[in-house]
Amino acid sequence: MKKCFIDLKTAEELSKKYPTPFYVYDEQGIRNGIRALNKAFAWNEGFKEYFAVKACPNPFLMKIIHEEGCGMDCSSYCELVLSDSIGLSGDDIMFSSNVTPGEDFEYARKLGAVINLDDATMVDFLAAHGGIPEEICLRYNPGGDFSISGAIMGNPGDAKYGMTEEQLVDSVKKLQAMGAKSFGIHAFLASNMIDPDYYPALSEILFKLSVRVNELTGARVTFVNLSGGIGIPYKPEEKGPDLEYIGAKVKEAYDRIIVPSPLKSLAIKAELGRYITGAHGILVTRAIHQKHIYKEYVGVDACAANLMRPAMYGAYHHITVLGKENCPCDHIYDVTGGLCENNDKFAIDRRLPKIDNGDLLAIHDAGAHGYAMGYNYNGKLKCAELLLTPSKKAEDAVLIRRAETPADYFSTFDFCDIIKYPEEGTT
Ligand SMILES: *Cc1c(COP(=O)(O)O)cnc(C)c1O
Repeated sequence: MKKCFIDLKTAEELSKKYPTPFYVYDEQGIRNGIRALNKAFAWNEGFKEYFAVKACPNPFLMKIIHEEGCGMDCSSYCELVLSDSIGLSGDDIMFSSNVTPGEDFEYARKLGAVINLDDATMVDFLAAHGGIPEEICLRYNPGGDFSISGAIMGNPGDAKYGMTEEQLVDSVKKLQAMGAKSFGIHAFLASNMIDPDYYPALSEILFKLSVRVNELTGARVTFVNLSGGIGIPYKPEEKGPDLEYIGAKVKEAYDRIIVPSPLKSLAIKAELGRYITGAHGILVTRAIHQKHIYKEYVGVDACAANLMRPAMYGAYHHITVLGKENCPCDHIYDVTGGLCENNDKFAIDRRLPKIDNGDLLAIHDAGAHGYAMGYNYNGKLKCAELLLTPSKKAEDAVLIRRAETPADYFSTFDFCDIIKYPEEGTT
């Protein structure tokens, strides 16, 4: 059974101050998850997680994550602004972008971020936009299918990211000639992997490639970047990633491949997003309508504009009807938002307790790629984000992003006066 980190009383108290829908993040949960990750890789000197900012680009959460020893993985100008705003620079920022505009590279270089190059053609582009740093990372794409013990987990051959081994080796040589002194190698081959053998399999590929690159070029490979991809158990029957097992298996590959090689040692970096915040964020929404046609529908005040994953990927997000945790799931509902899009459904044919209008629903595992993917289709506004501090009490919760207002939505028309707001009292 999946348990929600807040109860009905807390959610009702929050909703008195902040109208639904809203996101709630669990600070202690985020901190504990990072501590478990750092512990699992404590054997590796130089291990560092760079939180993938795109998963949850909120500077208040980024600060907490940084306090636990993480850097930030950015891929755009605004993500760099966020990292810069919380005071990060240099080795605390990884810049893993693709199809990168010149001004983004220039900003990343100004901040001293570690640059992760997506393609061989980016070598000259970076030289022209910010210049070549002494330490640089290159993104590898092995092509074909990526499988673990015979099961296909990803299709790098169809992915736009990274470069071939030949291109990577040529780029290292070229970068050496341009002044680069040490190198990292990165790859991201599968995502949301709850199979604990993902990181071990990927690290084996990157460790071996690091040794070959060193043999072929003499380059000092100082780190591998295992990137994101560790998953979380969205479904009640799934098990969470066993970090201890993952860390130990990566160590096994490291001891077998790196230690006896001329490289002797290297640091391991990660760019996890989903693992860091995914399970520690929920979307709280209120049931506002019931509809009985060919199916039973519960309409809620959140919609796909607040959480897009179910509409976009058919992703499963567990739902708890707060206060009815122990009631039998003897009703079958589609739980829908109000977009004029039939895929705006948080759940389809879901067994849930009987829902009444006014009930509060917690949509689980929305802390990564949740709020961040939000959009304004149908003129829907983005909701607030709240932080539940370690006390877990509603009165200690902090607003970390306010809800959008119509004025925010129309702000890009502020060069003229075409928008007429309804007069006070008419709505
Ligand atoms: C999206 C992304 C991540 C984070 O992935 P998760 O699945 O959230 O762990 C890390 N690195 C890069 C380059 C990405 O694009």
